[in-house]
This record gives sequence, C-alpha cells and structure tokens, in this order.
Amino acid sequence: MSTRPPEDVEVAVVGAGVVGDAVALALARRGVTVAVLEAEPEPALAASATNSGILHLGFDSVPGELETALIARSAVLRPSVLGALGVPVLSCGALVRGRSPADREALAALARNAARNGVAALLEGDRLAIPGESVTDPVAFSFALLGAAQRHGAVLRTRFRVVALERARQGFTLVAESGERVSARLAVNCAGLRADAVAALAGDHSFAIYPRKGEFLVFAPAPAQRLDRILSPLPSRRTRGVLAFPTVDGMVVAGPTAVDQEDKDDWSVRPEARAEIVAGVSGLYPPLADAEPVFAYAGLRPAGRGTNYVIGPSPACPRLVNVAAIRSTGLSASLGIAERVAELVAALGVALGPERELEPGPTPAPRGSWWRRTAEYRASAHA
Ligand SMILES: Cc1cc2nc3c(=O)[nH]c(=O)nc-3n(C[C@H](O)[C@H](O)[C@H](O)COP(=O)(O)OP(=O)(O)OC[C@H]3O[C@@H](n4cnc5c(N)ncnc54)[C@H](O)[C@@H]3O)c2cc1C
Repeated sequence: MSTRPPEDVEVAVVGAGVVGDAVALALARRGVTVAVLEAEPEPALAASATNSGILHLGFDSVPGELETALIARSAVLRPSVLGALGVPVLSCGALVRGRSPADREALAALARNAARNGVAALLEGDRLAIPGESVTDPVAFSFALLGAAQRHGAVLRTRFRVVALERARQGFTLVAESGERVSARLAVNCAGLRADAVAALAGDHSFAIYPRKGEFLVFAPAPAQRLDRILSPLPSRRTRGVLAFPTVDGMVVAGPTAVDQEDKDDWSVRPEARAEIVAGVSGLYPPLADAEPVFAYAGLRPAGRGTNYVIGPSPACPRLVNVAAIRSTGLSASLGIAERVAELVAALGVALGPERELEPGPTPAPRGSWWRRTAEYRASAHA
C-alpha cells in the first residue's frame, strides 16, 4: 500500500492511448490540472500502437455521424499540432481499387460520399484517388501529444490501473490496484478495451466493449518495390478490408484482418492470418504475393456492442465523462475528440483558460520500430 498523499487535480484521464493523450493535451493547454493514469508501464501499448497508422480524412465515413464530424475537425487541427511537435507524417495519398468494371458504380458512390464529407477524391476509371490521406508513426504521434501535455503541466502516472472510483463531495478518488490514489473533480474514461469496466466502477453499465482483432504482416521491400501510396480495396460497411501501405520507416505493411473475439488479452496473430492477408492484398499489390514478411503484429480495436463513439457524461455519474468505443479511427479523430471533451469538461464546471501555444520540446518516444513494440511487449509480458 502506498503512503504517498493523493494527487489532487481537476481532471483525471484514465488511459494513455492516443485518445487520452489528446484529451490531456487539450485540457492542459487551457490551464486545467490533469493527471493521466495508465495501467501499463508505458503509454500507448494497446490499440493506439497496433493500428495502420493512417490519418484518415473520412472519405468513406458515414455523412452526418459524430465520428465523421470529429475526423473532419481533426484534419483541420492536425497540421499545426503535428508540425509544432515534429511528428513524422508521410503525405502519400491513397488509391481505392475496384476489382472489375462492375465496381465502377460503387467507386462513383464512394466519390460522392467523399464529396459530401468535404474530402477531395478523384475518379480515375476503376480507381479512386484520395490525395490527402497520409500515414504516421502512431507511437510517436501518441508520445508527442502526451509529451506536450506534460510540458503544459499534466502529470503521468504509469502502472496505475484504476480499480475503484470512490465518490467524494468534490468529485472522485481514483484508486489504483497498487493502492495509490488520485483525487479529481472529474474523470475522463479513455480506457479503450476496458472503458466498460471503468464505467462500471461508477455504476455505469450503459455500454460494452469487445475486441475486434486486426492482424498485419510487415515486409521490408527492395527499394524498387517500395510502395508510394496506400492501396485499398473497396470498403464494406463492416471493414475497410486488407490494405497495403507504406510506413514512415520504409516498410510495407499489409492488413488488417477483422476478427471479433471475446478475450481482451489475446493479442496473438492467428496461424491462418498470413494466408488471409496475402489473399486479400496480392491483387492490390502483386509483389507481396511471394514476399516473406519480417514481422507480424495484431491490434485489438475497442469496438462497442451496437454502438460507436460513446462520448459524453456517464448516465449513472455525470462527473465521469466516457470517451469509449473509438473503434477504427481514433488516431485520425483524436484531436477532434479531445476538443469535444474539453467543451464537455467546461460544461461540467471546470474553467478553461485561453488555449496556449504548443511548446515544442523533446519527445521521450521509445526507440525501435513502432510496429514491433506492442507485440514484443505483450510477448514478454506473457513469457
Ligand atoms: C487493427 C487496427 C487498425 C486501425 N487502424 C487505424 C488507422 O489506420 N487510423 C486510425 O485513425 N485509427 C485506426 N485504428 C483505431 C485506433 O487505433 C483506435 O481508435 C485508437 O487507438 C483508440 O485509442 P484509445 O486511446 O481509445 O484506446 P487505447 O489505445 O486502447 O488506450 C486505452 C488505454 O487505457 C489503458 N487502460 C485500460 N484500463 C485501464 C485502467 N483500469 N486504468 C488505467 N488505464 C487503463 C490501457 O492500458 C491503454 O493504454 C485501428 C485500430 C486497430 C486495432
């Protein structure tokens, strides 16, 4: 049991994935005292580090949905934030390919959808080009936001798995498995796969999260076979399908799969994943059909059962703001989500000051390839 006195902050953010990191930055920049409480030994060791790293503009998102609006808002906010913080971005564009002339109508419909969402998309026969799509290093992205939040005064507590939310007159005391405690007027629940469990600590059973696994293969292409764009099949309502995309460190990645599972701790790559990915990608990018991958990793999307983008005060406890079920686009939408959460926090009575300029500074990003990091951590944690 720790004897440390409880930290006393205005807002406790539970979870240091990209969403929690962005929320911490949005609040700390406006002078709010923030503690970020993360269960793992380091930030961004879950979905935020095991995705495709694509900064979507929303060309295929459903017009009018909250997710689409927050992706669009992020696209406006992103250039200045990423520029100021030196986050690597490959502005490569994307190409959606139909499989046959019969797909032309579907591509035309996708182009109309993009136009409704304000995203530039160009029909070129049986291909649709989206020049504004880009890729980033999602770990560097997350660490940059969190590092900037810390420079604006936010405090990070790792190995702080929140296991109890004790209500107090002025807010909460958040209690960690270790016994450590942090007091806060408001808590923002950005706990990804475990956001339902964190909400339940406050008596909120209004949503459930399940893992939708996405597996990837990483290839080290010869320079002549490097990919210069994101290649994508026609997306369906359920999934964007298996893509091929370049990384900021010169690799080519193929994936992800989309496999619903129950176990929130199963980060394994299934033996059959390789054949599924190769079958999906070889029509898009033939050099990968016979290539040997150098690595494989899996991510778990925090998917809501029958819901998506649950953002708002908990119906059971308004001092808890849920930011949950951010399933497939949280990297792209994080800055818009954070702006929305800052508005909610202000509406709940925490005074926000003027937004301060971002202070550039060294980002303590982990060394090594982002696409290896979580898989290696999970493997060593279970060894
Ligand atoms: C296969 C795949 C591909 C994807 N591709 C893209 C893409 O190309 N572009 C895009 O924009 N998005 C993509 N996404 C979606 C994106 O990765 C997620 O939407 C985003 O990472 C969600 O971030 P988060 O912070 O909500 O969750 P997470 O990153 O899961 O973070 C939650 C954090 O909360 C912590 N936590 C949990 N419980 C507790 C507790 N009790 N106490 C303290 N801490 C706790 C966890 O340890 C974790 O660090 C993809 C996701 C996957 C899995």
